[in-house]
Amino acid sequence: MKRLLLIPDGMADWKDERLNATPLEYAETPNMDFIAKEGACGMVKTVPDGFEPGSDIANLTILGVDVRKYYTGRGPIEALAKGLKAKMAFRCNLVYVENGIMADYSGHRIGDTEARKVINELNRQLSNEWLRFYAGRSYRNLLLLDKEFGQVRTTPPHDITGKAIEGYMPEDGELAEVLRDLMEKSLEVIPAVTEKANMIWPWSGGKMPSFPDFSKKWGVKAVMISEVDLLQGIGRGLGMEVIEVEGITGYVDTNYKGLAKAAIRALKGNDFVVLHTEGIDEVSHEGDLEKKIEAIELYDEKIVGYILDRLDIEETKIMLLPDHPTPVKLKTHVAEPVPFAVTCKKDDVKKFSEKACRKGMHGFVDGLRLMDIFFC
Ligand SMILES: [Zn+2]
Repeated sequence: MKRLLLIPDGMADWKDERLNATPLEYAETPNMDFIAKEGACGMVKTVPDGFEPGSDIANLTILGVDVRKYYTGRGPIEALAKGLKAKMAFRCNLVYVENGIMADYSGHRIGDTEARKVINELNRQLSNEWLRFYAGRSYRNLLLLDKEFGQVRTTPPHDITGKAIEGYMPEDGELAEVLRDLMEKSLEVIPAVTEKANMIWPWSGGKMPSFPDFSKKWGVKAVMISEVDLLQGIGRGLGMEVIEVEGITGYVDTNYKGLAKAAIRALKGNDFVVLHTEGIDEVSHEGDLEKKIEAIELYDEKIVGYILDRLDIEETKIMLLPDHPTPVKLKTHVAEPVPFAVTCKKDDVKKFSEKACRKGMHGFVDGLRLMDIFFC
């Protein structure tokens, strides 16, 4: 038996007053409804209590990784996503501090090229054999340490806008001293390169995670197909093969056919394929309701429909769920349960939506149980 896991990022939503429905309920989605009708449904909590509803947390949970045990921070996940090797990683913002106050956590949205120049200069002056900076996008960069340290307490810079930084510098132990020293020295290095930022701010760091091997755990050959490096990194971290698709944009104008074809092709030589797509989440972040409905219909037709036309659901079980809701009204993620449908067993649900799936036979389940349900 083969298995295909479909994850349309951020598809779940809240009810819109004018539509008197959620975008998913309102949209025409005959193919997703078919999966609900041929299978069994439920609601699933993909973000454990106390965690931010990030795509990393939600997707790790879906794939059976207990983030309470394995999640060490945003920095390590981002490093994993970029295929970087080190013992520890921190998110390293370029920030602007004025008279000891956190004036801008995003370095006035510094451009990629300018940020890269800053990172190069920081490496030239402050790196050593076990410490280096890595350029990401804009103010979102990484600090990699190839040396073991104990824990350290750091604060997200966006939480202290307008506050004196002194009370929020890294604390406790040897690593805190290393970070404080780097931060102070960066105050002299950065202003020579840019006016947008003047200091580094390392946070959400920790040891690089070692996730349990998905393929070994379930005795399958597993593949990850995704438009974003975050999910590719998670796939790699779980021991999956990562397949690249050409012409993808991570938006509603992506290469749907290429993605759907890649999934079908991957199922020929493997037992388990994840197909994660990003476009619906992007339009949700834009807060555009009409565009979200359109994006959901495109997904239904060009991904789910294309696949159903070419796949025998007697031979390949399909599970479908968004990783988390991204309400257009809020333009960001929330940690609420999402609907899921899976073509193992069968219940009375005939539509794939937030409301309909509540009546499914699986009821309300913990995200960590999803794979047990899928490997029925
Ligand atoms: Zn997501």
